[in-house]
Amino acid sequence: MIDPTQAGAIAVRRRQERAAVKKAIASGERDALEVARIAWDQDDSIEASLRVTEFLTSMRGIGPDRSTAIMDKLGISPRKRLGALGTRQIESLGEWLRSTTPRNSPDIPTGRLIVLAGPTAVGKGTVVARIRELFPEVHFSVSATTRAPRPGEVDGVHYFFVSSDEFDSMVERGDMLEWALVHGLNRYGTPRGPIVEALTRGHSVILEIDIQGARLVKKAMPEAVLVFLLPPSWDELVRRLRGRGTESAEEQERRLQTAQVEFEAQDEFDVAIVNDNVDEAAAAVVHLMTEHQTKRRG
Ligand code: 5GP
Repeated sequence: MIDPTQAGAIAVRRRQERAAVKKAIASGERDALEVARIAWDQDDSIEASLRVTEFLTSMRGIGPDRSTAIMDKLGISPRKRLGALGTRQIESLGEWLRSTTPRNSPDIPTGRLIVLAGPTAVGKGTVVARIRELFPEVHFSVSATTRAPRPGEVDGVHYFFVSSDEFDSMVERGDMLEWALVHGLNRYGTPRGPIVEALTRGHSVILEIDIQGARLVKKAMPEAVLVFLLPPSWDELVRRLRGRGTESAEEQERRLQTAQVEFEAQDEFDVAIVNDNVDEAAAAVVHLMTEHQTKRRG
C-alpha cells in the first residue's frame, strides 16, 4: 500500500508537472498539438492527465468561455482528461488544433496520408508486401470489401470481408472515407476512423486503393499524396496479369480494359513511381512520408 504522505507527494508532483506543461503551452515553448499527441499516444503521461479545459485555456487567447464553447462544439465533456478521449473526440480535437492554431514548431512530425494507386496488375500488392517487410513501423489501412477471400487471405489483415448489407451499413453510418465499385464487380471501401486517428497521432498511413478511390480521398483530404505506380511497360503489365493466373480469362479482359482507362489518369497524381524494381519502388513510397515537398518521379 502507498503511504498517504507518499501519495500526497506524488499528487503534488503531478500537479506541478501539469502546471509546467500548461506554462510551456502558454509561453509558446510547446506546441498544443504536440502535447495532445503525446497524451493520445501514452496513457500514463502527464500530458494525458491534463483536463481538456485546462489544456485549452493554457493556449493563448482562449479563456474559460471560449474553451466551453469549443468543447461543446466538439462534443467533449468539460471534465474529460486528454488521455481519456474517444476516437471521434481525438479526431475532432486534432482537426480543430490543426486548423486553428499556428504551428509553433513546424518540425513536429505530422502524419502523411499516402495513397498508392495504379493500374491493375502493376504490382501494388507486391510493393505493399515489401514495404511491410522492410518498414514494419508503417501503418496500412485495411479496406472492407464485398469480394470473397482468396486462398490465404485473412479477415482483418488483408481485408475486412463483409456482406453487401454490412457494407451498406458502414456507408450509411459515414464510416467510409471513400468507397468504389471496382472492375464493375465488388465494392471496396476505406474505413475512416483508424486513418484519421493514426494521422492525428502523427503516424503516416498508406492506402492501397483504386483510382476512383484515390480521387475521392484527395477531395476529402487534399493534403493526401497520390502516388501512381507504373509498370515498366504496357506489355509487361499484360504479361503480369496473365501470368498470375488468379483471374478467369473473362475477368482478365475486364481488368485490362479498366487498366487502359486507369493509365490515362496518371497526370492527376502527385507522384509517379515506376515499379521495375520492387525494393526501390517500396523505398521510394516510404521516402515520401518523410519528404516535405512532393515532386514527380519517373
Ligand atoms: P483485389 O480484388 O485484387 O484485392 O483488389 C482489386 C482492386 O481494388 C485493387 O485495384 C485495389 O487497389 C482496389 N481496392 C482495394 N481496397 C480498396 C478500397 O478500400 N477502396 C477502393 N476504392 N479500392 C480498393
